[in-house]
Amino acid sequence: MVVFKNLDVQPAVETGDHKAVEKVRCLIIGSGPAGYTAAIYAARANLKPVLYTGMQMGGQLTTTTEVDNFPGYPDGITGPVMMEDLKRQAERFGAEIRFGVATDADFTGERRHVTIDGNTLVDADLIIIATGATAKYLGIEAEKKYAGMGVSACATCDGFFYKQKDVAVVGGGDTAAEEATYLAGLCNKVYMIVRRNVLRASKAMQEKVMNTRNIEILWEHQTVDLFGDNGVEGAVLVKKKGTPQEAIVKIPIDGFFLAIGHTPNSEVFKRFVDTDEVGYIKTIPGTTKTNVPGVFAAGDVQDPHYRQAVTAAGTGCMAAIDAERYLSEHNI
Ligand code: FAD
Ligand code: NAP
Repeated sequence: MVVFKNLDVQPAVETGDHKAVEKVRCLIIGSGPAGYTAAIYAARANLKPVLYTGMQMGGQLTTTTEVDNFPGYPDGITGPVMMEDLKRQAERFGAEIRFGVATDADFTGERRHVTIDGNTLVDADLIIIATGATAKYLGIEAEKKYAGMGVSACATCDGFFYKQKDVAVVGGGDTAAEEATYLAGLCNKVYMIVRRNVLRASKAMQEKVMNTRNIEILWEHQTVDLFGDNGVEGAVLVKKKGTPQEAIVKIPIDGFFLAIGHTPNSEVFKRFVDTDEVGYIKTIPGTTKTNVPGVFAAGDVQDPHYRQAVTAAGTGCMAAIDAERYLSEHNI
């Protein structure tokens, strides 16, 4: 295997096992707000970042229309435009943005290698993992049909559009309880669609839900379809599925919020980087440092709690600063 001594980006070289190897100073994986912000800071610090975008260039926000809560846009902005702005800002300072997916990693010993698209091996002094998290969906056709037209996986992001309307939240965990309580403050009525006859949420969150006047829990209900002409107008549920009391129930709603969990995109790195039981990368509190020296994590992939664009951008900034300090502390 060929490893360059020079710290700057080097052209890829063919190795015996037919993988091209490239040496870079700072490798950023992911092109959401965390990845692009890390790239802006890393480029300005002369870390010559190379960023691989993954399949979803621009990240989750490219799937939404209005972003109203990112500071600095008093009139709001669409997700795709905001992400294009962040990309251009990173490129202005020299970040190299490339299309490619991290398919494997090797952080054994002194190595910090990431394989891109199965055929290029990148040997990096610093790695910033910013691969985000993916909301889980039920898998029914209607979720796709009404995406951005009444179906959402983020109450904090989209709840505002349902002021004084009736909405439903699917799930019985802490996230669902939190989202339902948040929406109850904005909406006329909130249904919680819970598939069992108990909530998985903590006792404290359960109490909050039970004490909120305009939340109604639909126990042992499962969603099978959504309907509406120009967006969601209602949901079709099955009550007590598979029992003699099984019945179809229709509820009129304008918004349908999924809160059945997220999957952090950490699979490729899990063999080396510590994660929690769900797969969120663990970082040393107050930093973006993982258990592997020189490997940092930013954004939703390490954040089970906030999962917002501005917090992702904030930790992207932290990761680049942590990375820069790591270099100077280790005289690399
Ligand atoms: P992401 O945006 O998830 O980006 C992850 C990046 O990693 C992607 O570019 C992907 O291609 C890449 N990637 C993944 N795996 C690999 C791999 N193996 N190799 C290479 N690259 C990889 N937040 C707000 O603050 N305000 C809002 O209004 C808002 N609206 C939202 C609307 C919707 C529909 C959704 C789904 C989310 C919304 N959010 C909103 C949440 C916000 O989008 C996320 O918190 C934020 O995008 C997280 O940023 P991130 O950089 O951590 O990851
Ligand atoms: P979670 O705890 O895994 O709960 C997911 C919920 O969705 C469960 O009620 C589950 O039902 C339901 N569900 C899953 N798949 C479903 C499907 N296909 N159809 C219908 N319902 C489905 O996930 P989470 O609520 O996102 O929480 C994740 C972690 O973050 C937890 O550890 C939680 O405590 C933590 N968290 C904490 C806070 C807080 O402390 N304030 C806030 C948010 C999250 P079943 O119960 O039947 O499996």
